[in-house]
Amino acid sequence: MLTEIEKQFIETHSLSANKAEHARSLFPGGVTHDSRRQYPFQLYYTKGSGTHKHDVDGNEYIDFWSGHGSLILGHSHPEIVSAVQNQISQGTHLSGSSDLEMEWASHVIDLIPSAEKVRFHSSGTEADMMAMRMARAYTKKSKIVKFQHHFHGWSDYLVKDGDGLGGIPEETLSTVIVLPPNDSETLENTLKNNSDIAAVIIEPTGAHMGLQPIRPSFLEDLRRLCTQYGVVLIFDEVVTGFRISNGGAQKYYGVTPDLTTLAKILGGGLPGGAVCGKADIINMIETKDDPQYNKFQRVGHNGTFNANPLSASAGVTALTILKRDPINDQAIEMGNLLKEQLNEVLTRNEVAGCVSGVNSLLHARLGVDHQCDREICILSESEMKKTTDSKRNDQLNLAMLNNGVHSGTRFIVGAYHSKEDIAKTADAFDISLKALRSEGLI
Ligand code: PMP
Repeated sequence: MLTEIEKQFIETHSLSANKAEHARSLFPGGVTHDSRRQYPFQLYYTKGSGTHKHDVDGNEYIDFWSGHGSLILGHSHPEIVSAVQNQISQGTHLSGSSDLEMEWASHVIDLIPSAEKVRFHSSGTEADMMAMRMARAYTKKSKIVKFQHHFHGWSDYLVKDGDGLGGIPEETLSTVIVLPPNDSETLENTLKNNSDIAAVIIEPTGAHMGLQPIRPSFLEDLRRLCTQYGVVLIFDEVVTGFRISNGGAQKYYGVTPDLTTLAKILGGGLPGGAVCGKADIINMIETKDDPQYNKFQRVGHNGTFNANPLSASAGVTALTILKRDPINDQAIEMGNLLKEQLNEVLTRNEVAGCVSGVNSLLHARLGVDHQCDREICILSESEMKKTTDSKRNDQLNLAMLNNGVHSGTRFIVGAYHSKEDIAKTADAFDISLKALRSEGLI
């Protein structure tokens, strides 16, 4: 039996339903990214402008997916549109070096505290793969430590504790050690008892864009222990870079890693990735006058679209705007306002849970009554399980869409989300929670 929420969703999204049916013959599961699967079917979007987007059925949404986190400036920022339009007429790929790539790297070095040198890629996954390889080559050790549930793209190595391990050799997975986060003692024992660890990689605000937060004091312990045991510390700032502050989580928390991986906001809404950090480590890519070294120790790196002029033009423009305007302050202000208003809605409706997170990355955790400081809200594994109940959260996602908001339980807030957007989102949350209650789901 369909819920009232599902009935409304199906009625108001009939063109998307038809397209989703057709897409099943084109793509596995009908979609082109695992996280774009949506119950009971995905929506087909036509255009985005600022903080809003539209679908094929003529519905309009306030967008909190924000280009999977890449759009702190909203959709189609006029300065980025103009830079990309200008560049497309000058050539999208000149098979060589450009001023733009130097400008792009200079912005990264200016903004990110750990960045002494940079290497560009086309995605966050590639940047994380390269950071691991650089760390292994630099330390001449082989193992990588990651933390449970932390997401670092889809490379063979870093998905070890996730689903979908088909096709990955056991030998590869055995080079990765998965540890619980926020546990300095276990980390220290692991580093002490294993002399073959090249690097530790972490999402510095916690797994899945901060859904399972990291204590700032753990980042400090991590920095101290990596230095003590000669292990490369990698901050995966693919999401947090240029977002938590304009210098990422490392600037916000004052903890400087050896290597940082970047993507998303870096590319100004176009594909782009980078590894930056200590020059000695990044220089593992440099050739020497030593064929043996070049063959066995140097890190090789190609990539047709590395630093391509189109992404570089968007990236340079985005980072220029970030330096010029108080973009991060605005996103944080709007994030705080949304957090406050959504928590008020929870209280008013007497729904157990919280909306919490760091700055502009917020998560709604429903179904557990708990003490929460609204920023670093750490739940036990069993509490986490309750908050991720997919039956309830799928219905919440649909109810929010029915009320003009694309968020699910995660809100990635941009600098241009307006007070009106925030108020409308709080209203949509209120109506959605009431709809969930009518279905007996909360
Ligand atoms: N690291 C983190 C923390 C991410 O959230 C993501 C993607 N959401 C990636 C790496 C992978 O980036 P990409 O999708 O650009 O490969």
